[in-house]
Amino acid sequence: MNKILKALIFDKNARVTIIDTTKAVDEAIKTHKFSPLAAAVFGRALTAGGYISVNLKGKSKFSMIIKGGGPVGNVVVTGESDNIVRGFLSNPAVELPLREDGKLNVGGAVGKDGHIWVIKDYGLKEPYRGSSQLVSGEIAEDFAHYLLKSEGIRSAVVLGVKVDKNGVLASGGVILEAMPGITENQLVMAEDIMQNLSSISSIMQLKTIEEIFDFYFGHLNSEILSIEDLRYECNCSKERIENIIKGLGKDEVYDIIKNTGKFEITCQFCLKEYTYSKEEVDKLWEM
Ligand SMILES: [Zn+2]
Repeated sequence: MNKILKALIFDKNARVTIIDTTKAVDEAIKTHKFSPLAAAVFGRALTAGGYISVNLKGKSKFSMIIKGGGPVGNVVVTGESDNIVRGFLSNPAVELPLREDGKLNVGGAVGKDGHIWVIKDYGLKEPYRGSSQLVSGEIAEDFAHYLLKSEGIRSAVVLGVKVDKNGVLASGGVILEAMPGITENQLVMAEDIMQNLSSISSIMQLKTIEEIFDFYFGHLNSEILSIEDLRYECNCSKERIENIIKGLGKDEVYDIIKNTGKFEITCQFCLKEYTYSKEEVDKLWEM
């Protein structure tokens, strides 16, 4: 299931978001032929993207790019309001030996020599741009650090993906945000709970997001605000692709046509191929 649960706990002194991206990652593995390690990187980043999308205000869109110098290359997630997300990795086949604790080496794949960037476009003059340095490349810590440095949000973030040779078993995460009124006691409890949620993918394999909320947060003066679907969708279209082709410029496009007889372009997010004959390209510049 792809779902997002938003709730308040501790008498509104903290916000909890629980996100299940299992189905999205399953679909992405099939489309992008992700290695297990790539699927783990992608699932964690897509879950963070789900959190951004569910918190967008009005009609808007966002992009998140994580670039840490590791062998997976760029990690890109974009989306829109209404909980729509998509993404891709530069190197979907990335592989590394397992870590000593038997886990996939997400931090090694992403690297930590770089930044996380988030752009939110609310349709105003200037989009919001935030960034922070990577901490570990494991994405959860990096995202929490980003939220603090760029958006002033004190949070704890757990993200996890469990895969086997047949595909994804679970992917998702929990983000807990402390509000200004939070007490010392509540902070200690919150830390404890997030510690217990650290293997979130194993928990998500057995429980729905509602069950996770009830079990870990239900007794803490809590209130569920919403449970919504998360949509894993591309927004590419002939029109968008034609704008990209026009953006490349006539010379470059006709250069390629001269060599191959046609112009082919693949959407990086869903790998859909768009092919244009010379006549069709001619028409683009007649319009
Ligand atoms: Zn597409």
